[in-house]
Amino acid sequence: MRTLSETPTRHDQHGLYPEAISVEDFRRNLAAVQARMDSACQRVGRDQASVRLLPVSKTKPEASLRLAYAAGCRMLGENKVQEGHGKWESMQDLADLRWSVIGHLQTNKAKLMARFASEFQALDSLRVAEALDRHMQAEGRSLDVFVQVNTSGEASKYGLNPEDVPAFIRQLPTFSALRVRGLMTLALFSAEAGRVRQCFALLRNLRDQLRQDAPTGMELEALSMGMSGDFEIAIEEGATVVRVGQALFGARALPDSYYWPTASHSNMQAPS
Ligand SMILES: *Cc1c(COP(=O)(O)O)cnc(C)c1O
Repeated sequence: MRTLSETPTRHDQHGLYPEAISVEDFRRNLAAVQARMDSACQRVGRDQASVRLLPVSKTKPEASLRLAYAAGCRMLGENKVQEGHGKWESMQDLADLRWSVIGHLQTNKAKLMARFASEFQALDSLRVAEALDRHMQAEGRSLDVFVQVNTSGEASKYGLNPEDVPAFIRQLPTFSALRVRGLMTLALFSAEAGRVRQCFALLRNLRDQLRQDAPTGMELEALSMGMSGDFEIAIEEGATVVRVGQALFGARALPDSYYWPTASHSNMQAPS
């Protein structure tokens, strides 16, 4: 039997996933990702229903998002607000399609986001929380939010330092339109599975610690962690949401540095 510490990353596939160009492609990719999720759950005795797959459609054209919808996707993740808003506008006919913003938000974009997002996974400042709360109230809507935590210690990554999260969380009940669901992180982008796992374990431990004195009424259950190259490790460490782009949609043409301003991916070590 293999032990958990042997579960590898799949960063060697990064940039190589074939483009999904038909509903069948999406169905097949969804089934394959789901099967990988299920076996990760099985390895640690978790219920498969306790992990949600969030398909990430950034950079992909509307036509391919429509194929994903036809294959059953009802929530899509976008990293950039303007891109997400544009797609939402042109896909109004799909009334039950919901949107999650998973990338850093500038305060001046909060109003745009309040128009279309149901979920925001990258909250890391009170100024943004205040702006979002105000605009969501104006729209008469509420927003599920995840607090982004920097678990890799990379200076350039977005997210709060773990030690700053408890005080930050205590401020959030003031914002009545924001429903705090849990924490989100991007692990170190590395082929060293052990170091990736440490990032996920840190987020889970932080969540467990925060839950003990969470403000009343705050759930703090969710852990959004893991993407195409590392979601199995994330699930083994307790992820309740995995954000998967390439493994469903195919590789992206734009470099990741466009989305993760930090990540030159200098930590990436090609498995030999
Ligand atoms: C793009 C992105 C993902 C998905 O990455 P893939 O490698 O395409 O699975 C996950 N989380 C965030 C914040 C992203 O920007």
